[in-house]
Amino acid sequence: MLNLIAHIVKLSSCRDRTEINAAMVDALTELFHPQSVTIYRCYPGKKKATVFACAGYGPDGRFVHNAYLPDHRFCQPIDRDPLLNRCRKEASAVLDMLEDGSHRIVFPVNRLDQPIYMIDLALSEEFSADQRVSLMGLIEYFGNHIALLDYGEADTLTGLASRKTFDKHLFELLGKSAADEHLRTNTLQAPLRRRGESTLSSHWLAVCDIDHFKQVNDNFGHLIGDEVLIMLAQVMQNSFRFDDQLFRFGGEEFIALLQPTDQASAMATLERFRKDVEKQVFSRIGHVTVSIGFSRLLPNDTPTDAIDRADEALYYAKEHGRNRVDCYEMLVAQGELKLRAPASGEVELF
Ligand code: GH3
Ligand code: MG
Ligand code: MG
Repeated sequence: MLNLIAHIVKLSSCRDRTEINAAMVDALTELFHPQSVTIYRCYPGKKKATVFACAGYGPDGRFVHNAYLPDHRFCQPIDRDPLLNRCRKEASAVLDMLEDGSHRIVFPVNRLDQPIYMIDLALSEEFSADQRVSLMGLIEYFGNHIALLDYGEADTLTGLASRKTFDKHLFELLGKSAADEHLRTNTLQAPLRRRGESTLSSHWLAVCDIDHFKQVNDNFGHLIGDEVLIMLAQVMQNSFRFDDQLFRFGGEEFIALLQPTDQASAMATLERFRKDVEKQVFSRIGHVTVSIGFSRLLPNDTPTDAIDRADEALYYAKEHGRNRVDCYEMLVAQGELKLRAPASGEVELF
């Protein structure tokens, strides 16, 4: 009992999602001695739901992955695992008896009847009814803690991540970029990097602004304007991949942080989104369009540096007809924009 309370106190002190997952794995392993445990984050996805094994404990010991950056090596389509898939469909705990007398049980953490997390445990046969009650209580506590965090971090109108979580996400991502860069420079790919840096994939930041949105408000009123924002966020969620991070940054401005890819693919992704918006019929008002500016994330970027570059490209898009996507690096290469000196970080002279 005291042990359970100590773990709950530890969990309740965490705000970082990676730390929460780690604390939950520790609580589950120390209190219930499962043979294995995995915490999955669930992403509904356009066609197929995906799960990301973000933390757990198994034959190789404990593992914890950055909860903010679903890593493809630990993601899988949910239907590859029938028990997880059943848990998703039923949105309730599901059980599978294993041959050796142990059993596997998957608990969902639901939001609006959809699992957003799943906790997958392999337990020995001598698991008592009392233990089961405590286990379910702990999982419920975990779900409530996540729900509070989500509530605090989401934009209330659109449900996308809000501006206040942006810096945290960007720094997590830059930390990862720096780690990837380190890996690249210390592995076989190093010669490739020296030959053609620009062909390598990197993260991208895109700023998206609705065209002539003031007219929407002026002609149809603020409430209809708000509906357009909600619908645009839905188009955005359907258009991007599950692991691209989307934010409502200000009134009618949105930001997307794209997973590593090359410049041409980033352009294609953003063009697809621009066209998805153009095609969408918004009730009462018909069609709206968006302009998008984007830029490559650099290892020493601050949020302001990265946003300023994407904003320059956005401004260019607005000046050159709107309903278009422009890339800062392409505009600089074409001589349309001057290269900005970074506001911070080291300036490399040679
Ligand atoms: P541009 O094509 O140059 O972007 O023209 P614009 O009219 O969209 O200009 P701008 O981006 O500067 O306008 C922002 C407008 O968005 C101002 C305000 O009326 C509206 N707006 C900002 N936040 C909200 C909101 O939360 N709800 C609604 N309904 N309107 C908002
Ligand atoms: Mg604006
Ligand atoms: Mg606008």
